[in-house]
Amino acid sequence: MELNLAGKRAVVTGAGSGIGREIATRFSGVGAAVAVCDVVKDAADKVAADLSGKGGRAEAYAVDVSDFAAVQQLCERIAADLGGIDILVNNAGITRDNLLLRMTEAEFDRVIAVNLKGTFNFTKACFRGLMKNRWGRIINIASVIGQMGNAGQANYAAAKAGIIGLTKSTARELASRNVTVNAIAPGYIATAMTEKLDTAAREAYIAAIPLKRAGTPADVADVCLFLASDLASYVTGQVLRVDGGLLM
Ligand code: NAP
Repeated sequence: MELNLAGKRAVVTGAGSGIGREIATRFSGVGAAVAVCDVVKDAADKVAADLSGKGGRAEAYAVDVSDFAAVQQLCERIAADLGGIDILVNNAGITRDNLLLRMTEAEFDRVIAVNLKGTFNFTKACFRGLMKNRWGRIINIASVIGQMGNAGQANYAAAKAGIIGLTKSTARELASRNVTVNAIAPGYIATAMTEKLDTAAREAYIAAIPLKRAGTPADVADVCLFLASDLASYVTGQVLRVDGGLLM
């Protein structure tokens, strides 16, 4: 068995930048046809064009993952375009940080809607097809924050902890159909999301990481590829931390 996705059709959300773009690129590099989904069409277009330019099969789609009806329609379109869906990576995510004392209802609701409900929406839209397929992978990008909490991120921690519960329940429901469902919990990864942190917060993170460096999108994409491949056939319902040892 190999790290080979030839013939597989993968959907990656939030694939226009950061970790999602790297996952789409890694999957395409080992033969998967990739549906590059992002809320910004331009970003998805650029990634899909890049992958196609390298000889891969990639299509760009614009969708807000929090829109249930739009996601159902989109997944039907992707399945028609690619001939089916074998792998779903729920990666789209946002932060709206604030201490709970100051956190608004809108900040809480939006983070739950994109991170948690968005993961539900795509899982629901792909569920029946994956069941019928009798082979499948769902990989949800959670966060160590969902396991350890973080001051100023109650909304994000709640959403990511929710994703872990969703992952385990879905894993139990799909196991008999040879579909595995796992979560990856990245730690501190250098992307646009973490660029927002001030220098002091960034240095504090690095100091707390035993491997003494920020992670890269490639660090996460490699683990995602492993979970998507046949090498991980007997792994389901797990949360794999990719965090340089931040949380042990
Ligand atoms: P990123 O570079 O901001 O990428 C997130 C992507 O999701 C962006 O392309 C973003 O588009 C897209 N997106 C945002 N809202 C969306 C929506 N409603 N519908 C569809 N797409 C949407 O951040 P990242 O660091 O790569 O994050 C990827 C995932 O990893 C997230 O789930 C994040 O929570 C998780 N994670 C990241 C870290 C880290 O340290 N970076 C750590 C743990 C977990 P726009 O750019 O247009 O907003």
